[in-house]
Amino acid sequence: MAGLTVGYMACPMCGKDGVAVKVNQKGHLYHYCPAPADGGCACGNQSRSSSGDERIAAKINKWAKPEYRQKLKVALVVPEPEIAVAPKIDDEEAPLPVKPAASGGSWFDKPLF
Ligand SMILES: [Zn+2]
Repeated sequence: MAGLTVGYMACPMCGKDGVAVKVNQKGHLYHYCPAPADGGCACGNQSRSSSGDERIAAKINKWAKPEYRQKLKVALVVPEPEIAVAPKIDDEEAPLPVKPAASGGSWFDKPLF
């Protein structure tokens, strides 16, 4: 299984799509972004745990074979992100503009001395 490409993902560092996600010798997932000359950033992620595998698998946007997806999804316990619902705001009247405090008039109106 080592070196097997299970799918492709967008690089989480630079966003380059189509980065291969592979299985290492210990059965965990990893990916390496191509070199900058090839449009990537040369960053990589390597999982050392099933938790890391789940997180990398969750980023895969194209699977090499459907059975890889099913196999990894079985162990996948990544919770769906909760969709934040904006609180309903009642229409309110805009606050009235604050009048500047009466300062006793302009200093032009007062004698200088
Ligand atoms: Zn990258």
